[in-house]
Amino acid sequence: MSPSLSLPPDNKEPWSATDNRDSTQAIEARKSLTIWPLDESNTILLNEVAPRNYTNPTQPNDIYDLVAIGAGAGGLVSSKQSARRGAKSAMISDHLAGGDCLNVGCVPSKALIRCGRAAAEARRLSEFGVTVGASGGDQSVSVNFSKVMERMRQIRATIAPADGHEGTSATGAHVYQGRGKFIGPDTIQVSDGSVLKFKKAVIATGGRAALPDVEGLMKAPFTTNAELFNLETLPPRMVILGSGVVALEMAQTFAAFGSEVTVVQRASYLFQSKGGDAEASLAEVASVGAHSKSSRRVGFSSIGLSGNKSKGGGTVSGTWLLSLLIPPCA
Ligand SMILES: Cc1cc2nc3c(=O)[nH]c(=O)nc-3n(C[C@H](O)[C@H](O)[C@H](O)COP(=O)(O)OP(=O)(O)OC[C@H]3O[C@@H](n4cnc5c(N)ncnc54)[C@H](O)[C@@H]3O)c2cc1C
Repeated sequence: MSPSLSLPPDNKEPWSATDNRDSTQAIEARKSLTIWPLDESNTILLNEVAPRNYTNPTQPNDIYDLVAIGAGAGGLVSSKQSARRGAKSAMISDHLAGGDCLNVGCVPSKALIRCGRAAAEARRLSEFGVTVGASGGDQSVSVNFSKVMERMRQIRATIAPADGHEGTSATGAHVYQGRGKFIGPDTIQVSDGSVLKFKKAVIATGGRAALPDVEGLMKAPFTTNAELFNLETLPPRMVILGSGVVALEMAQTFAAFGSEVTVVQRASYLFQSKGGDAEASLAEVASVGAHSKSSRRVGFSSIGLSGNKSKGGGTVSGTWLLSLLIPPCA
């Protein structure tokens, strides 16, 4: 469950950019909404998807045809598309509209992947007979991680209006900021006290990365996709727990940026199935320098990780641990 957005009183100022980590807005953005830094791009994002000065509709419809709880892809699509077709609909958002996809999933990960691919291609230019500049060697490729992250934030901010409250309201759907709960078979209450009657309800409350019950994990500095896209410096050595699609995408990308990446997986093969595409992906991961280890039993000591050697494990250490154990259908 994501941290709840505290309902803004009407007099709250809109988000504005600041370098001061201790300002009220910075703490709210970082701790309540897990969005950081509060630069121009993230300010644009937050003013769209979690506006501080937003006021919930004061006159709910007597009865909505559809109420969606959650403002990720599921809640946005169902509430907007039904409003566009003439239905009375409402959507309730307790965190960041756009959900994982816009904020901590598809959009930021694809923005990083594009940069990683550019770096990997640049290192192979000589293979294609291409030379850039006088020194032009493959070893001269370097990645400016701050610039990579800044570009990602700009892309996310550009897309944000499509998922923002204003855009959703423009379709005719009512947007409520707060937490929704069922208080009857046809009634939902929002945390500001608004009571919404419905004919149909959509529960689109999403999912989050699973944290496995492994020894020492809670003592190791780790994060999930929830804060991955707030990174300000490139981790020199990264251990990624999980080998699903998202984990491998990030393994390849951070390896292309120059991190020493180790993927830890339970199975002896990547993805959910053996052979075919999985084999091809394994070769691709190896080609950009990420290593993989399989181990059924793992334990953490600080950031170091030790695995059951009989299953091909051993010991690896990193400066940063990323848990990307994301259920395929969260
Ligand atoms: C790193 C990463 C990369 C990904 N890449 C891709 C990709 O390339 N392509 C792709 O198709 N998918 C991708 N995904 C998956 C995609 O992000 C999810 O499938 C999608 O976000 C799910 O949308 P959703 O609406 O079900 O849930 P979510 O996006 O999780 O949204 C649910 C929302 O509901 C809110 N909520 C929960 N409870 C309540 C409540 N009681 N009241 C009000 N609000 C509530 C939550 O705060 C949340 O904002 C990726 C995911 C990750 C993590």
